[in-house]
Parts: sequence; C-alpha cells; structure tokens
Amino acid sequence: MVDWKTLKKIDAHIHILPDDVHRANPDSEDVWVYAKLHEYRKKMDVLGVEKAVIMPLNDPWLMSMDFSIDAVHKNLYEMKQRYPGKFYAFADIDTRNTPQESVNAISKAIEEYGLDGIKIHPNNSGVALDSDYNRAIFAFAQMKQIPVAIHCYPNSDDDLSTAEQVVRAVNQYPDLTIIVSHMGAYQWERLLSANVYVDVSAALPDYVRKIGIEATKSILHKFGADRLIFATDYPDNRFLSPEEIYDTYFDALNQMDYTQEEAHKIAYDNLESMLTKKRQLKMG
Ligand SMILES: [Zn+2]
Repeated sequence: MVDWKTLKKIDAHIHILPDDVHRANPDSEDVWVYAKLHEYRKKMDVLGVEKAVIMPLNDPWLMSMDFSIDAVHKNLYEMKQRYPGKFYAFADIDTRNTPQESVNAISKAIEEYGLDGIKIHPNNSGVALDSDYNRAIFAFAQMKQIPVAIHCYPNSDDDLSTAEQVVRAVNQYPDLTIIVSHMGAYQWERLLSANVYVDVSAALPDYVRKIGIEATKSILHKFGADRLIFATDYPDNRFLSPEEIYDTYFDALNQMDYTQEEAHKIAYDNLESMLTKKRQLKMG
C-alpha cells in the first residue's frame, strides 16, 4: 500500500496570503490566519510535501495591500524567492482591468516574475468562465503554452463556472493545458471525456463524506492516474479545519489502491512534467 503521508508530493493548490496582508489584519480569525508562508514551509517536511503551488484568488484585496494586479504578482514572486525551489505560483486576474490589461499583466508575471500558470476563479471575480473576457486570456495562454487552472465547484447549471463551460473552453482552445480545480465537484462526469487534468482539492473529502470511499474510488479510477493531480486547497475547506485537512486527504488516498507508479504520477509527476515542459519551451 502507498503511504500518502510519506510519499513525495507537490500540493498543486494551496493558499498563502502575503505577510503585509497578515500584518494589516492582525485580528482576523478566519482560516486565512493559517495561510502564512513561513508556517506552511515548516509543515511541508512533516507532510512529505516537497513543493506547493500558491494559487491567487482573483481577489486583489486578499493578495496585496496595494490592491493592484502588479502588486499581487510581485508578492507571489517574492514568496517564491523566499524559499527557492519550494513554491510555484500562478498568475492572477483582476477583472476591473480590461482583458488586454489582464493579458499584459499575465505576460509580465510569466516573463519577469517567473510565475508558472494562470488561475481563473469565476465565482470570485464574478465573471463567467465562458464570457468574452476570458477568451483573450485563453488565446494568450494557448499561444504561450501557459497552464490554466480553473476553479470549478458548481452548485447548479447556472453557476459562473460549470463543467459544461470548461468543456466549451477545451473545444475552443484544444491546445490549452487546463487543470480543473476541485474536479468539477458533482459535475465531474461531464469532464471525463474532456482533455483536462483535474485537481482533487475540496472534491476528494467531499465525495468521501457524501458518497463513501468505494464510490469515490470509482470516480477517481474513471479519470485515471494520468489526469489526476494531488491538491488540498489548504487552509480552506468547507467542513474540515486546517489541522484536519492533510490527514483527511492522506487517509482517503491510502484507500484508493494506487500502485507506487500511479501514486507518483498523481502526487508529483503529472504536475511537475507540465510545469517543467512550460519552462523548457520558454527557454528553447
Ligand atoms: Zn482554492
């Protein structure tokens, strides 16, 4: 059996808020108090997390005290610099800016700040996934071969980010590398035939709680080890406290009967090869 706690992993989806945001909100009591870079770095060795991907929130108020997209990207760059080789970070989108301004900011984030992908969170930005706004971003990401992580945890068919909208993006931008965060939750079936990776964050403990281990196992095995990506969304979860998050994921994954090779792909290699390929293309 694979022991997911000691298995070498990349957590493909975590949240860290910049130190100056923490300093400006000393009385905060929500889960974001756990989103501190130095504290998370200390946890990584204990959890077997070799690297982690810091995801922005499409909400400039949480990721900088300047409330501008450039300040957000600079903060993400500085977090990566503080612990070299330990963190990836995806570029943010601020929908107060025009689509072209967003593309320019992403381009600078990738070229100058060395960020690693793009995060689109339609429910935070209030801009639907298949709106015109995102077309400029998808076209740019496809052209530059930048991976795009899309938040997809829909509650209904008229959610701003449904699995159906992800599928339409895949059809319109067939060469785009897409990670669907949270597996599309209960719309996962729609994603099975789409050429996307899925990150198991939030969805995995939710499935286990609602439909049990065996049914969850069946969903994960339908996607297959080549398309699944380990991720937790730490420290955020709808029903788990931050301290419970990792053990809950490890416990569920320990029961999924993966071979060492499959587990390595899900925990590490699928994401690492995607992000490494991007870097090689940029340098070549
Ligand atoms: Zn998240």
